[in-house]
Amino acid sequence: MTAAEPAELVFVPLGGAGEIGMNLNLYGYGPPDRHRWLMVDLGVTFGAGSAPGVDVVLPDPTFIAERRDALDGILLTHAHEDHLGAVPYLWLRLGVPVYGTALTLAVLARKLAEVGLDGDVPLIEVPQGGRVTIGPFDLELIGMTHSIPESNAVVIRTPAGTVVHTGDWKLDPEPVVGVTSDEEALRRVGDQGVLALVCDSTNVFEPGTSGSEGDLLPALSEIIGRCPERVAVTCFATNIARLETVARAAAANGRDVVLAGRSFRRITEAARETGYLGDVPAFIDEAECGYLPRDRVVIACTGSQGEPRAALARIAAGDHPNVDLEPGDTVVFSSRMIPGNEVAIGRLQDTLIRRGIDIVTWRDAKVHVSGHPARDELAAMYRLVRPSVCVPVHGELSHMAEQARFARACQVPNAVVAENGAVLRLAPGEAGISGHVPAGRLSLEGARTVPMDGDLVRGRIRALYNGHAVVTVVLAADGSLAAEPQVSSVGVIEAGEEAVETEVREAIRKAIDGFPQRSYNDDDAVREAVRIAVRRAYRGCIGKRPKTEVHLIRI
Ligand SMILES: [Zn+2]
Ligand SMILES: [Zn+2]
Repeated sequence: MTAAEPAELVFVPLGGAGEIGMNLNLYGYGPPDRHRWLMVDLGVTFGAGSAPGVDVVLPDPTFIAERRDALDGILLTHAHEDHLGAVPYLWLRLGVPVYGTALTLAVLARKLAEVGLDGDVPLIEVPQGGRVTIGPFDLELIGMTHSIPESNAVVIRTPAGTVVHTGDWKLDPEPVVGVTSDEEALRRVGDQGVLALVCDSTNVFEPGTSGSEGDLLPALSEIIGRCPERVAVTCFATNIARLETVARAAAANGRDVVLAGRSFRRITEAARETGYLGDVPAFIDEAECGYLPRDRVVIACTGSQGEPRAALARIAAGDHPNVDLEPGDTVVFSSRMIPGNEVAIGRLQDTLIRRGIDIVTWRDAKVHVSGHPARDELAAMYRLVRPSVCVPVHGELSHMAEQARFARACQVPNAVVAENGAVLRLAPGEAGISGHVPAGRLSLEGARTVPMDGDLVRGRIRALYNGHAVVTVVLAADGSLAAEPQVSSVGVIEAGEEAVETEVREAIRKAIDGFPQRSYNDDDAVREAVRIAVRRAYRGCIGKRPKTEVHLIRI
């Protein structure tokens, strides 16, 4: 008989460790083969050109879905898409209660209703500063400042040690909306002893501090004041503090605020319902925009990251149903580029400039502060929490590696970089990677999710790069062609190149004529011979081999 194995504490990121987006963090506690699990956050990321037709990307939850009996709950740190956006699409595979603060759950409830899951998901509210037990995990939420109210650090206490999972945060003495980060609470937890700090890496390359939301009002007021015509301000819909800053800057210039973009409606409803935006006058619906004098409105719009279907992209292209901009109008980008979105944002700004619309970005004026900690704030966090090990998350690999270096330079004894799928054993013993589990990415395709490396997305990429041809071959009982082969294609030939298809038909005829008598009943062999002949014919004519499909009909 062997002695009972001691309980261990592990951290397993399945998303968000190696990219900025789609956060999915798992904590496991128990004997190695009998862990109980806690999930912290379940978010999405946006396709931004990663593959054609892919708009929303989710972390693949298969590892934990296969162990759902051992999963005790999902805790959401805050209401950003990269932290809760995947819940509506993946919850059915997990089936456990979801915990969060009032605003976070109000935002989630609206998203669940949109996919027909209203009332199905047990939602358990935990206040900021509150405590809750989920399975073997004793949890405490600590309120943090971020670019949406009610962001939380989570203190995760287990018999094997305490983890502080920061979520998204910054230090800001004047956050405009929401709490200032509770440094007292962090210091108290630090006094009790912290094993690991799992920490936001987004702005680790930024020196100094992230800056205060409270500093933006003068710059935004001044910009709006000197614009003679329409002004649009684009920011994240969820940035309720920014919306309040924009509303104050507009009011200072005698302008009303019009909201353009569906996600604004969802978030402002949820915010008012949970006690935010109380001092801000009602926003005007985009449908009313056309009735207001051009110099009396500020249009707050979504799409600061160049998202093709968001309000700003449609306004820039001149095909928004309610809002238009003209030469001499101004668009303020009250946002920063999220890594990966540079090309899409550049294209959007070019479209605006080409139309004679002035743009103002964070490079020109103080119109944005980040919601994530710069280096001085990270150092302050290490001093408050005093962890034995720093585990960087919420970053590309370069951000995480830099935070590991920086933490060590700030006298944190150990730092470990764990990418998606790594099993990081935090205790007992020294923290280190002890194994790997499957991790991957899913694409949201309408109402369902499919693997990014599966047939659907791969086939679409091949069809996009090389075009797609479909040929139909009708065979008589003796194996000869009973009709002229049909060829159609998408993205293969230019108008006027129909002679190419004549060649392809000729190649099909030759392939059938030359096909060995003894195998002409073998459908797969016939199809493959035709497919090869077609691809070879295209290659000979145009130098490309389109993705080819063969339909075989026998009469
Ligand atoms: Zn966030
Ligand atoms: Zn985030």
